[in-house]
Amino acid sequence: MTTPSTSVLIIYTGGTIGMTQNTETGALEPFDFNHLLDNVPELRRLGYSVSTTQFDPIIDSSETEPSQWAKIVQVIADNYNKYDGFVVLHGTDTMAYTASAVSFMLENLGKPVIFTGSQLPIGMLRTDGKENLITAIEIAADRDESGRPRVPEVCIFFDNKLMRGNRTCKVSAQFFNAFVSPNYPLLAHVGININYDDVEIHYPDEDMPLKPHFNMDNNVVVLKLFPGINRQVVHQALNIEGLKGVVLESFGSGNAPRYEWFLDELRDAVARGIVIVNVTQCSTGSVQMELYRTGNTLRDIGVISGYDSTTEAALAKLMFLFGHHLTPQEVIQAMKQSYVGEVTVPRQ
Ligand code: ASP
Repeated sequence: MTTPSTSVLIIYTGGTIGMTQNTETGALEPFDFNHLLDNVPELRRLGYSVSTTQFDPIIDSSETEPSQWAKIVQVIADNYNKYDGFVVLHGTDTMAYTASAVSFMLENLGKPVIFTGSQLPIGMLRTDGKENLITAIEIAADRDESGRPRVPEVCIFFDNKLMRGNRTCKVSAQFFNAFVSPNYPLLAHVGININYDDVEIHYPDEDMPLKPHFNMDNNVVVLKLFPGINRQVVHQALNIEGLKGVVLESFGSGNAPRYEWFLDELRDAVARGIVIVNVTQCSTGSVQMELYRTGNTLRDIGVISGYDSTTEAALAKLMFLFGHHLTPQEVIQAMKQSYVGEVTVPRQ
């Protein structure tokens, strides 16, 4: 349900959706956002108000940093009372990281924040950008019979799928079906109708005002295990100056080698107050450190489970928690809870 007074703000940060081809070099380069509106005249026919704002400079999302996340949060916070929903146009490359981060940074969010982008520039004939943009706007504007926003969450909408943002990963550099939500159901399937799955959508406590957060601490690292990883690599990674948190991408259900040198390096890092979160390299499933001896050992030395978190969400959550100057013990406790539906914590 929408009315003529419904309003959506489109925030264009960059990415392929608004790019054009340099005729000399053939490379894709960002162009002025007004061009985007020229390419989607359909936007003027939506029947409600759509406003746009463009970042300056607009960037390729491979150059995204926490300051860019804070900028997105600032624009949403500044315009929160003026609009019913927000669409963030963002490059696909790091969209899952940004959507994860922003989901933590917008505490008590009560309106839709829908990220989208495209694999082909919106001006190209076979573009996926138009579909993605128009439906993202419709979802951002949508309300139920009682006037409540249908999806008051940070989401990614891509190729007819609406996903909780902090559950997503980019899985294809080629196909329109570029994002998946490996461990959480879709929030909506889009065909002729937009079919929301209300049971999976999180509705906040409406009395709580939006609380934007801006500080993220990037003293974190992702350490991906591989057969043959050597001590020097692990040692260097865990001894980076100022390091506070590690996302350890382990094997299968949270397993890692039990070499003495490897365990010594992890023990030493834990003793120095570094929080190590175990996530799986597998594309679906959860860490279960109690399942195998190789996982038990990690748990015994103080590595904590990231359960079914994506690497993107675990990393963003560590940055967010350390950005609030929590102690390692407080971060460990916070990692064991779901803040905004980013993780499924099994019942103890
Ligand atoms: N390199 C682009 C970006 O992430 C790719 C895209 O938008 O799909 O900004």
